[in-house]
Amino acid sequence: MSETSQKESVQADLRINAHWIVPIESPCELTSDDQVLIDHCILIKDGLILAIEKQTDCQTSAKETLDLGQQVLMPGWINAHGHAAMSLFRGLADDLPLMTWLQEHIWPAEGQHVDEDFVKQGSELAIAEMIQSGTTTYADMYFYPQQSGEAALAAGIRSVCFTPVLDFPTNYAQNADEYIRKAVECNDRFNSHPLNQHPQNKHKLVQIGFGPHAPYTVSDEPLKEITVLADQLEMPVQIHLHETAFEVSESLEKFNKRPTQRLADLGFLNERVSCVHMTQIDDSDITLLQKTGASVVHCPESNLKLASGFCPISKLSQANIPLSIGTDGAASNNDLDMFSETKTAALLAKGVSQDANSIPAIEALTMATLGGARALGLEDITGSLKVGKAADIQAIDLNSLSSQPIFDPISHLVYCAKSTQVSHVWVNGKCLLNEGRLTTLNENKLIQQAKAWADKIQPAIN
Ligand SMILES: [Zn+2]
Repeated sequence: MSETSQKESVQADLRINAHWIVPIESPCELTSDDQVLIDHCILIKDGLILAIEKQTDCQTSAKETLDLGQQVLMPGWINAHGHAAMSLFRGLADDLPLMTWLQEHIWPAEGQHVDEDFVKQGSELAIAEMIQSGTTTYADMYFYPQQSGEAALAAGIRSVCFTPVLDFPTNYAQNADEYIRKAVECNDRFNSHPLNQHPQNKHKLVQIGFGPHAPYTVSDEPLKEITVLADQLEMPVQIHLHETAFEVSESLEKFNKRPTQRLADLGFLNERVSCVHMTQIDDSDITLLQKTGASVVHCPESNLKLASGFCPISKLSQANIPLSIGTDGAASNNDLDMFSETKTAALLAKGVSQDANSIPAIEALTMATLGGARALGLEDITGSLKVGKAADIQAIDLNSLSSQPIFDPISHLVYCAKSTQVSHVWVNGKCLLNEGRLTTLNENKLIQQAKAWADKIQPAIN
């Protein structure tokens, strides 16, 4: 089944046995392309997947063996869009439309509280929640990305930090030029960061991208500059796009163009760019996505909560637009749980398209794993359980009552399993969650830190 016959003399660092493995794509050329592998094991060496093979056929010795019995192994979730530190604003303002929520609540709170400490501690809280719920890679778009990146490195989770760019001043920078300069400096810093090195350079844990906030907050010149720099420095780019009907009508008024058309005319859209939300789109927008190769990050729960509209993912899937899933920030969701996000994406697609066959379970799982890797430019590194890729894996315990009986683990992973059933998480082969316990973060300390922030923030909202 794998290349182990040539590797019999190689000793793996870890062997994980599980009853089910859902690899998302075929583990290697010699493997059957079954969606579910029964009674197989994964062998890990130097942080990478060495082989996936039948337990009874496995000849490779391992320094350590973990027998997970009736559990399922699958790639860790890739949360393709969020604002990690905003977990400290969880529940600050609910039941409001986007612009009221932003202008009257979030932006004032950010002006008052966001600094390096806020981002460090907020990111740690978010990272712990994501590891506990099976996420192995997350995209972040927030101020002080240095702090978020450092928190990711310390916790051992994979991250792409999209450094924010805006036309207007915040605590972090004064104008678009300064945001862009800081993004380039941050990229340099993480490229040479001593904790961010890996024998295989591409498997670095933290990468830096550009995160221009939205077409309505960034003008043409910085958008063009970002395109040139991202190309030169090979950095990914992420932008909120077509989040609301208001954004589209304002753009038509101001530029006489829909936002997607304006970005395409600026030469901004290409395969490096992931477009978050895309709720108010027509056929012309889909054609532009097809022509440019830009991908879409679907954030269904944030869109539902802010009543922004629906991203037509069935239609986008039929048009072969690369799709991924993100939770958005905890202030607009209000959790970072990719189990519930993936289920919502699958259910909402059926409701919106009025087709129960739309986005079947395996497609939803693929969007939330390999699709996210593609959106972030990490498809050679992670997103599926494939020989040579990083060992970014989650184990889900299906022994609980609410998961019985089991006819098809893929169905359970999307429609029934809860994030509390995640037992183990590995990133680059390092165990970050062991039998439900965080290994690199102190849960009690994070809860105390969050409570202290609530005491600081609370007086301002009363
Ligand atoms: Zn967002």
